[in-house]
Amino acid sequence: MQDQSISQRLLIRGARPLADPRAYDLPPVADILIENGVIVAVEPNLEAADCTVIEAQDRLAVPGFVNAHYHSHDTLLKGAFEALPLDTWSILALPPAFPPRSAREIRVRTLIGAAECLLRGITTVQDMVRLHPYSPEHFDIVLAAYEEIGLRAVVAPHFNDLASANSAAFWDEELPANELWRLAPSVPTFAKGADIISLIRDAVVPRLKGQGLVRLALGPSAPERCSPALLKATAELSAEHDLPVFTHVAESRGKTLHARRKLAAHGHSHIRCLADCGLLGPKLTIAHAVWLEESEIASIAKAAANVVLNPQGNLKTRSGIAPFAAYRKAGVNVALGCDNCSCNDSQSMLQTMKSYAGLAAIEQPIGDTPSAADTLHAATTAGARALGFTDLGSLAPGMKADIALFRLDDIAFVPLNSAIRQLIFGDAAPALDKVIVDGRLVVDEGRLLTIDLAGLRDEAEGYAADLRAGLDTITGRVKPLFPAIERALERAHATDWHIPR
Ligand SMILES: [Zn+2]
Repeated sequence: MQDQSISQRLLIRGARPLADPRAYDLPPVADILIENGVIVAVEPNLEAADCTVIEAQDRLAVPGFVNAHYHSHDTLLKGAFEALPLDTWSILALPPAFPPRSAREIRVRTLIGAAECLLRGITTVQDMVRLHPYSPEHFDIVLAAYEEIGLRAVVAPHFNDLASANSAAFWDEELPANELWRLAPSVPTFAKGADIISLIRDAVVPRLKGQGLVRLALGPSAPERCSPALLKATAELSAEHDLPVFTHVAESRGKTLHARRKLAAHGHSHIRCLADCGLLGPKLTIAHAVWLEESEIASIAKAAANVVLNPQGNLKTRSGIAPFAAYRKAGVNVALGCDNCSCNDSQSMLQTMKSYAGLAAIEQPIGDTPSAADTLHAATTAGARALGFTDLGSLAPGMKADIALFRLDDIAFVPLNSAIRQLIFGDAAPALDKVIVDGRLVVDEGRLLTIDLAGLRDEAEGYAADLRAGLDTITGRVKPLFPAIERALERAHATDWHIPR
C-alpha cells in the first residue's frame, strides 16, 4: 500500500476548472486552493506557500461525480448476466438467493465497487446495501471499507418486512403455489418477529457521531415491500436524526403493476403511500420512478422530494425509459445513479450521463432535452442535494474538495471544441488522471493510491468463482419457473396501461 499523507493545504495549479457555466466550453486556467478538505479559492496565480502542489496544466478539473443510486452487495457479480427482465434478474442476482457471505468477502466486495467508482471519477456514492442475513458487524465492515479507500459514501442499510417471493404482476396466478419454494431465500434476512426498525436504529444512531467521509441514511426497500407501520417508523427515525431516506419506486412494468395492486389502501399509488406514511419530502430520494403518472410526478415536485434515474440499469433489465421530460418540466430534483453492478454492469457516471442525455432525446424527439451542462448538474449538484449535501457538487469556495482531473491531451478532447460536451457526449474515461476526495489525492495517473488493488483482485476472483457456483445452483432451482415468469411478463406487457413509455 502506498503511503498518502493528507495535506492540510493543497494547491491544484494551472487546471481548467469547470466552475462557471458561461465558460464551460473553454474554462479559463485557474488554481484551486484547498484547506482541510474544503475549496477556499478558484483563481489564477494563487500563492503556493505551505501547500502541497498538484501540477494540473492541460487538465480539465471537474466536480467529482455523485453516484446517487448504488448497491455494493453484488459488485462481484459484474458481467454474470445477459440483459434479463428485472423480474427474472432480481430472483437470481440479489443476496437472499445466496448463502450468507463472510465478513472478509463483504469487505472485498465493498472495496471492489468503491475502487471502480473512484477509477471512473465518482467521488460520492450512495450505497443502499443489503446485508443478508442482516448483521451490524457487517455494516461496520462496509463503513470501514469506504473510510479505508477514501470514497465519500452515504450508506443506508436496506430493509423490508413484507419480503415475499411472489413479487411481480401475475406471479400469484401463473406460478404454481407448490413450486414457490424455489424462490425462497437461503435464510431469512431478519429473524422471524424481529423488531426491524429497532435493529436499524441501533445500527445507525450510535454511528452518527463519527460521521465524516462516510454518512448514514435509511433504506426501506420499496413501499410495497414495507408495511405502513415500518414506513411510518422510518419517517420518524429520519425526522428525529435528520437522516436521508432512499427507496425504490416503479422500476419495471411487472413490479409496478404488482405494487399498485398491493397499495390499494393508498389509492394504488406508491407516492400516495409514501406521503401517507410521512416520507414524501426533501429528505426522500426515489430510485427509478420509470412508471409513474403525471399527478404522482407533480406530488414529488410539490414535496421537493428527489428522484434518481438509472438509465443504464433500466435498459439492461428491460424496465423502460423514465419520463425525463416530465420530471424536468415539473421541476423535480433529478439525480443520476449507476445502480447494481450485475445489471449495469459499470459504475460509470460518464456512461450514465451519455445515456441520460441520449435517451431524453429519444423520449422527446422535438423540444427541450437536457444539455450537457444540465446533465453534469444532474450528476453532481443534484446528486449531492439528493444525498443531503448543500456543500458538494461544484468547484467554488466553501464546497467540499471532491475533484476529478481529466487530461485534455487525450484523444477525447482533441480538438477542443467544447470541454463540457466532449466530457458528456464523448468518451472521456481514458482521460481520467487524478481524483481528489475531501482534499486527499486518492487516484493519480489513473491508479488508486489508497489500497492494493492487485492483491484485492486475487481475493475477488476467489469469491467470484464461489458466487458463480452458487448462481449455477440458484439457476437450476429457479429454472422450472421461467416459462411461468415469461407468461406473467407477457400479461404485464399486454395489460392496458395509460402511461405511455
Ligand atoms: Zn436499486
